[in-house]
Amino acid sequence: MTAAIPETFRAAVVHDFGTQLTIDDLQVPAPGPGQALVKLISSGVCHTDLHAAQGDWPVKPKLPLVPGHEGVGTVVALGEGVSDITDIGIGDLIGNAWLWSACGTCQYCRTGWETLCEAQQNGGYGVDGSFGQYMLVDTKFAARIPEGSDPYEVAPVLCAGVTVYKGLKQTEVRPGEWVVISGIGGLGHIAVQYAVAMGMRVAAVDVADEKLALARKHGAEVTVNAFAEDPASAIQEATGGAHGVLVTAVHPAAFGQAIGMTRRGGTIVFNGLPPGDFPAPIFDIVLKGLTIRGSIVGTRQDLEEALDFYARGLIHPTFHTRDLEEINQVFDEMHHAKIDGRVVIKY
Ligand code: NAD
Ligand code: ZN
Ligand code: ZN
Repeated sequence: MTAAIPETFRAAVVHDFGTQLTIDDLQVPAPGPGQALVKLISSGVCHTDLHAAQGDWPVKPKLPLVPGHEGVGTVVALGEGVSDITDIGIGDLIGNAWLWSACGTCQYCRTGWETLCEAQQNGGYGVDGSFGQYMLVDTKFAARIPEGSDPYEVAPVLCAGVTVYKGLKQTEVRPGEWVVISGIGGLGHIAVQYAVAMGMRVAAVDVADEKLALARKHGAEVTVNAFAEDPASAIQEATGGAHGVLVTAVHPAAFGQAIGMTRRGGTIVFNGLPPGDFPAPIFDIVLKGLTIRGSIVGTRQDLEEALDFYARGLIHPTFHTRDLEEINQVFDEMHHAKIDGRVVIKY
């Protein structure tokens, strides 16, 4: 038996960029064709949610906005036609994602690059997300949460996990080779775990010693505090130059420093999205034959694979549960890099 669906629900809402979110009562939406209504159990808090609330990026989110794209919950209602396109049913545990939907027909969608679809919609950005007791998902894009998952521990996999898993694949680092994870926050501490599970040797860089301790706990062999020493020479000395670097840091300085960490022929992948620029020395990039690429979340297939690593016990996000009402305090802690791993809202 399913519980009755109320008329309204509590959500954390951004009304203006750079101001405090308010906890509002919103109407529970009815699922449209192909959509499901989800009653949330948990939602991770990603630094992207903070960028959204601050209006940090050139492309702004909708306002008012309910952020959140690491939500896990139970399906409580289905829109028309869901059973024709998926096997998602009432009571299933599913999640939302940054890639809330994509067109399915453009050149990117047709060639395995749905993450680049120009008509995509983004959860907790262009469409309301998981910082509320209820949310809508497009069942073609919703994440299916593997049986036996802890709904709090698995939430960060939905964005942080898939993003770094895809990013690590994009570094083209092979088993036994060195990868640097720069930035050991929500994304980075999970990146250390995927890299270890993928057979890579891991060096971690951050500006806080507690984050480096977390990286070591999750399997990093080398750690460097970029405030205490020059991270490029420290990494060169410890590894002979990294084969790949994954930058998840939220300061532009880390992006330029990645160039000095690589060995010749290495690949640098950018996941982090702080507003700003960094100096890129043309001579070093050309002479060292470096590849620098951006990487944005992952496809539905990447997400299924990332969740499968979790289901096999290879990934254990470090998380701390908080109440939705504490969201402004959580954002403040995130801004000051005070969060160990990921904060997960518990509904
Ligand atoms: P977070 O706040 O949890 O972690 C950021 C980390 O960066 C912290 O550990 C902080 O100490 C570290 N840091 C700050 N300055 C640094 C420096 N100079 N050198 C090294 N480390 C430094 O944030 P998060 O949730 O992990 O997100 C990180 C970034 O990734 C954000 O900009 C977010 O928007 C972006 N992001 C991108 C994607 C994508 O698909 N590309 C997906 C999710 C998040
Ligand atoms: Zn995210
Ligand atoms: Zn498309």
